[in-house]
Amino acid sequence: AATVVLFTRDLRVHDHPALHEAVRRGDLVVPLFVLDPTILRRSARNRIAYLVEALTDLREALRSRGGDLFVRYGDTVTETMRVAEITGAGAIHLSYDVGRMAQRRQRHLRRAAEGSRLAVTTFPGVTVVPPLEVTPAGGDHYRVFTPYWRAWEAHTWRRRLPAPQRLHVPNDLPSERLPDATLRDQGRGPLSPERQRGGESPARQRLRTWLDSGIAGYAEGSDMLAADATSRLSADLRFGCLSPLELAREARGRPGADAFVRQLAWRDFHHQVTAAFPGIARQDYRSRDTTWVSDTEGLALWRAGQTGVPIVDAGMRQLLREGFMHNRARLITASFLTRTMGVHWTCGGDHFHEVLCDGDIADNYGNWQWVAGTGNDTRPNRRFNPLRQAQRFDPEGEYVRRYVPELAGLDAAEAHWPWRSSRRPAEYPLPILDPEGAAGTGARPLG
Ligand code: FAD
Repeated sequence: AATVVLFTRDLRVHDHPALHEAVRRGDLVVPLFVLDPTILRRSARNRIAYLVEALTDLREALRSRGGDLFVRYGDTVTETMRVAEITGAGAIHLSYDVGRMAQRRQRHLRRAAEGSRLAVTTFPGVTVVPPLEVTPAGGDHYRVFTPYWRAWEAHTWRRRLPAPQRLHVPNDLPSERLPDATLRDQGRGPLSPERQRGGESPARQRLRTWLDSGIAGYAEGSDMLAADATSRLSADLRFGCLSPLELAREARGRPGADAFVRQLAWRDFHHQVTAAFPGIARQDYRSRDTTWVSDTEGLALWRAGQTGVPIVDAGMRQLLREGFMHNRARLITASFLTRTMGVHWTCGGDHFHEVLCDGDIADNYGNWQWVAGTGNDTRPNRRFNPLRQAQRFDPEGEYVRRYVPELAGLDAAEAHWPWRSSRRPAEYPLPILDPEGAAGTGARPLG
């Protein structure tokens, strides 16, 4: 019998356990992707653009191996069951995922297959260590990173799987054409002019370049905002164009790789939290006694990169321009919104989610809650002083000048404090509030 391999956020042929097992069984394989309008409507334009490119790349990779990618439009569960029926499939394979929608899809597929001879099986592949495979004594997931990290490192990782050499697909299965770039118009948010191209082929090139010439300088440079010393593989991991396990295995043991591999564990950490707490995007993971400020105007200025605090605006504008933001800038901008302005973390998380190419429920909202003090931070009252952060991680003001062109003429000493400079360009706003002021007090104009 045939096996349907339902691709979701695992758009690759290398190290793909669900696909590998279907091919190994020697059956007909039906690689399937369902374009689900309810999911598309909630997605960022930037991510739909990446998705379209990744699907095109995946179809090429499957065709070059004698296979194909079948595409359907509609409800994922209904369409998958329909394809299984048409092909007389005995099994559906998919990669296990943790978001609320993904968990629902997995449940509904299982329910739809109940009573039939169809077996629905989930496989690892979205994380290095599958969520809930390492658990603390007496709990279903780790709440704090460091003990998780120790268990994660000590865990025996599964072996890496090669891409299939050949696969056999049914030859009479009707398939819709692949979506073109206009599909992105169904999504939300802006389309960033400098976003990365999606797909397994460009992702693998980025991986090689990173391993050959980037990773060695990671520990030293990853926090420096202007250095571009991080991998920029997050969107590739988000869509599974790269296997996180392959990346971790390739990285481990290289000079300077420890700090990098640790970040992959952070990613897994948020996924195992979300597996146990799927409401992560809406509910406080842990309650914090605070009063949030409603500041519609301030929120709009923050989103547009017009707060008048250069380091915050630079981050927010990098996001709009590239569909990406440096991790240090994510921390600074998120802390500014939730801790300095006192605006609720969902407002910031939703904006990030509408723009980021790597936007992912577990990683985005998990990190937002961490910054806002409702998540897993062991120091929930931590608050970043944006100006001190700026001095430390952008000492020359290079990052600020790159993304805030109004400030291009200022030197290192002025770029982070334009309001103190006689050369402050008139077109750049004054800060909406004192960046070093007391926490969560809402908008208080500088005198
Ligand atoms: P590198 O520094 O090269 O790290 C390698 C990989 O490790 C990343 O690609 C990512 O997959 C993972 N990683 C690194 N840091 C983290 C982290 N703190 N949490 C989870 N995974 C991590 N990351 C996302 O992938 N999607 C998101 O939606 C997302 N939203 C975020 C929101 C906020 C408020 C903050 C503070 C962080 C967020 N991150 C998110 C984590 C991190 O900022 C990005 O993963 C990182 O900046 C991506 O750049 P890179 O690939 O060059 O990372």
